[in-house]
Amino acid sequence: MNRRELLKNSVKMMLLASTAGSAIAAEKIVEVKKTKITKPSKHPRIVVVGGGWSGLSFAKHIKEHIPHAEVTLVEKRYEFVSCPASNAWLFDLVPMDFLVHSYIEAANNFGYTYFQATATDLNAHENILKTTEGDLHYDYLVFATGIEYDYYNWSKGDEAFEHKLSREYPAAFIPGSEHLTLKKKIQNFKGGNFVITVPDGNYRCLSAPYERACLLADHLKKNKIKGKVLILDANNQVTIKEEGFMSAFNEIYKGYLEYMPETEIESIDFDKKIITTGFDNIVFEDMSFYPNVRATKLLEKLGLTIQTAYNRIEANLNVFTNKFKGYDNIFGCGDLRPMGFSKSGNTAYTEGQNVARMVAEDYYKKSIKWESPITFCDSFVSMYPDREISLVSTYKYDKSGHTFFNGSATDEDWKHNTLGKSHAQFNWAQSMYNNMFYV
Ligand SMILES: Cc1cc2nc3c(=O)[nH]c(=O)nc-3n(C[C@H](O)[C@H](O)[C@H](O)COP(=O)(O)OP(=O)(O)OC[C@H]3O[C@@H](n4cnc5c(N)ncnc54)[C@H](O)[C@@H]3O)c2cc1C
Repeated sequence: MNRRELLKNSVKMMLLASTAGSAIAAEKIVEVKKTKITKPSKHPRIVVVGGGWSGLSFAKHIKEHIPHAEVTLVEKRYEFVSCPASNAWLFDLVPMDFLVHSYIEAANNFGYTYFQATATDLNAHENILKTTEGDLHYDYLVFATGIEYDYYNWSKGDEAFEHKLSREYPAAFIPGSEHLTLKKKIQNFKGGNFVITVPDGNYRCLSAPYERACLLADHLKKNKIKGKVLILDANNQVTIKEEGFMSAFNEIYKGYLEYMPETEIESIDFDKKIITTGFDNIVFEDMSFYPNVRATKLLEKLGLTIQTAYNRIEANLNVFTNKFKGYDNIFGCGDLRPMGFSKSGNTAYTEGQNVARMVAEDYYKKSIKWESPITFCDSFVSMYPDREISLVSTYKYDKSGHTFFNGSATDEDWKHNTLGKSHAQFNWAQSMYNNMFYV
């Protein structure tokens, strides 16, 4: 399949990816399995688990640093579907094929192997990664497995409750069928309260729930739907670009959007559709529930995690070398990290690039140098007129507090930008897709 054909089938493929045994999916598995590495090699074998923003960046850049390395990207999905710009897709501002890209094409363009499998276990003594499709030997291993949801605060371990919440009211913060469910909800929404929740802690993409709320309010206003967006925020204020978002809530969406900070959800009655908070009972017609986030259960099972602030499970990394503590040849990057950087695509991509350089420094027996990843965050607050707010920031280390802080966000970046038809977000996303897949 060439790229155009792949993209034409993208929505279909996204649906098929979640159903075992489809004809198209099966064809693709066979195609990919042929590239499996089984034999030891004289060239360094570098395996990266996770083909998201960080893993794709790592796989591309490590080949630039160590061209003779045998690089394998282990990814469980058949196709890449972007979370950045997916809010725009929810409201038909971009087609699905803008978000979907081919792992096979990326691997061909950058000279590494795409191995479609799920990593399941590790034998670190013998440098073997276990996967659903067999074992892979490595000299260096990198985990870039992103996040999983953590519903425990609300479910207290009640699986039925958790399934109800995650399947019927999905967060849509991990690519896949959740986004399709949420889009259907938006299209079918006829009125009442549409609740969007925001968790506490360092959740994935701080701005995205607020951007989504703005675009939903914009949709209600434009289509004269008698409904309201309620943002139930566990934080005491908007967590990023506060001035820009608050002015949009108060000026553009008055009557269509209500912002409720410091809202702790105590219980949810799914039959009566009532949320009970510390202050109120809130009736809802529909909802997208965003729980807390954590590193994957696989990493926890492998003993590669720690509990950080807010009781979150995150990767147990040396924050200056990105090596997992206790291991010399296992690295981590992307949203799994324990550092308080923004869990966002640009940050994950630039960190993947840094970690590729760090692995090469280790391989060539040089000292490993730390460099800050770069966060770029752009959000739509309205489409008519086009208003986007953006910021760029890097990080510095505070020795006394043993923590990283935002070293370079400038004030003017936090204000509204009226960008006419240039759409900074789409330009940025397209250039990142080009970086990860094509050039
Ligand atoms: C709605 C939304 C909007 C966003 N907007 C922006 C934005 O405008 N700008 C921005 O910079 N960021 C944005 N983000 C955040 C961005 O998507 C994430 O920060 C980024 O995807 C993190 O990259 P990652 O590589 O760490 O994780 P991911 O991209 O999630 O990749 C992890 C990969 O690992 C794979 N994986 C996991 N476990 C295994 C396993 N055991 N075996 C094999 N594969 C495995 C997964 O399938 C996945 O492909 C947005 C996110 C959302 C949800």
